[in-house]
Amino acid sequence: MEKELRTFKKGGIHPPERKEYTEHLAIEDMPLPKEVDILLSQHFGAWCKPLVKKKDRVEEGDIIGDVEKGLGACVHASVTGAVKDIGSSPHPLLVSVPSITIERDQEAERKEYKKEDWHNLSREELLSRVKKAGIVGMGGAGFPTHVKLSPPPEAKVDTLIINGAECEPYLTVDHRLMVEHAPEIVEGIKIILTILGIKRGYVGIEVNKPDAIEEMSKAVKENSEGFDIGVVPLKVKYPQGSEKQLIEAVTGRKVPAFGLPFDVGVIVQNIGTTRAIYEAVIFNKPVVEKVVTISGKGIKRQANLRVRIGTKLKDIVEYLGGTTPDLKKVVVGGPMMGFAISTLDFPITKITSGVLFLTEDEIDLYEYKPCIRCGFCLEACPMGLQPNEIGIYVEAGRAEETAQFGVFECFECGCCAYVCPSKRPLVQFIRIGKMKAKRA
Ligand code: SF4
Ligand code: SF4
Repeated sequence: MEKELRTFKKGGIHPPERKEYTEHLAIEDMPLPKEVDILLSQHFGAWCKPLVKKKDRVEEGDIIGDVEKGLGACVHASVTGAVKDIGSSPHPLLVSVPSITIERDQEAERKEYKKEDWHNLSREELLSRVKKAGIVGMGGAGFPTHVKLSPPPEAKVDTLIINGAECEPYLTVDHRLMVEHAPEIVEGIKIILTILGIKRGYVGIEVNKPDAIEEMSKAVKENSEGFDIGVVPLKVKYPQGSEKQLIEAVTGRKVPAFGLPFDVGVIVQNIGTTRAIYEAVIFNKPVVEKVVTISGKGIKRQANLRVRIGTKLKDIVEYLGGTTPDLKKVVVGGPMMGFAISTLDFPITKITSGVLFLTEDEIDLYEYKPCIRCGFCLEACPMGLQPNEIGIYVEAGRAEETAQFGVFECFECGCCAYVCPSKRPLVQFIRIGKMKAKRA
């Protein structure tokens, strides 16, 4: 009998994958843009303060913004040139945030970074390179990586999980990174394990990426001596890329409500983050570029593009030949957890995984109706919450009472809204609930 694939138990869905547009397209370097807008908030935590002023000259890799105190990560010049302005740029969630505009010197090319051996570096030196490179969780969370790799001593971390699930429809960045850069990712895993002082690491990959499973398994076999690294094929199920669900799928451990992965001895890192750690430690290269999936039927050419941080979406659209006349909606991120945007002036950040150009047949345009109490959303919720009640209470003007239905445990995966036959905007209701309810 065929062995059942690992996955998480409660809830989950399988939306159309729509990865066929880009999953076979090799990562392509977009030519350097004339100008970049570096946002001073690209991470979870305090915003950076600018360390440069108008007309200053900057080299690729220079730190141009940093947090004064508290949680955060520094930002770097992604091209060599002159500071043109310190102003603000559009942001998909915060509307607008302060930014530094750099005009690239016409003749400036990509900087060459020298390779170094990392094996003699201490744990502190490794962590310091991660911090100086401004690395944050590149799957979308943006949590500063040097902080995540310094769990409190009482946490007793024994396992690292690398998130290769990439369960959001359309997105194929991690898939292509695993196919094209598997040995570097495995080296990155070894660096992280060394920082954490542990030996065991798993790479969880959904089985709709057989070539990624093959390449990663080969790289692990060839280069993991002294470590206990394994590739774990996972059933295709959304939202498996979410930390709690991934930990359960790979190890069977359950993170408690409001708990963190290290409460069950686990640290999770994303594929792109792991490769960024490899580059930071071995090449002293900061986060100056990001691979993004540009997909959907509303763009003339789909691609997996490596672009400079701060590249404006309008420059990417121009490079790919423009949009199609039937474009209806532009979404930053995946269709399940992404955010619709209304301007192409939006710059790419460290946490942008993709931008989708969607036509009418790729989106829902129905008007929503009252709840019919079918219970489908309860079955689909991976956290066991009551999104139906949250929606009803918010509509009734009682949003402040929604904590009892689990509003603060919701991580906005969108499974409930996806299955709702009444097309109720449950995630929007939940966001209102989060703003108005009080934590117990
Ligand atoms: S969005 Fe929140 S309530 Fe809805 S399924 Fe996901 S975790 Fe559950
Ligand atoms: S799925 Fe929609 S209609 Fe059904 S119970 Fe949930 S909110 Fe109500």
